[in-house]
Amino acid sequence: MAQPLWGKKGRTMDLFHRQPKGNDIHTGRDCRFCLQADADFAKRNPMDRLVASNLEDVASAHLTEEGHVQHRLAELRRKRAAGVAQALPLSA
Ligand SMILES: [Zn+2]
Repeated sequence: MAQPLWGKKGRTMDLFHRQPKGNDIHTGRDCRFCLQADADFAKRNPMDRLVASNLEDVASAHLTEEGHVQHRLAELRRKRAAGVAQALPLSA
């Protein structure tokens, strides 16, 4: 009964059983803008970090509403930081 440890018929994985990539809605990558601008990026829900991989790193490219909002907040924080450096014009 000497059987090989591997190569048994029926035990090999189906080579063609891979997940097809390319459904645009589910392909995402980390938003590079948020990665740089948001100090809490790593604490986000993984889905909230993603932007559609075929789009730019903009708020509307985020796959989730929360991601979109977080991107906007990061933009605002960055703008505010830049504004402070240039001395904000006060309207009062
Ligand atoms: Zn973003």
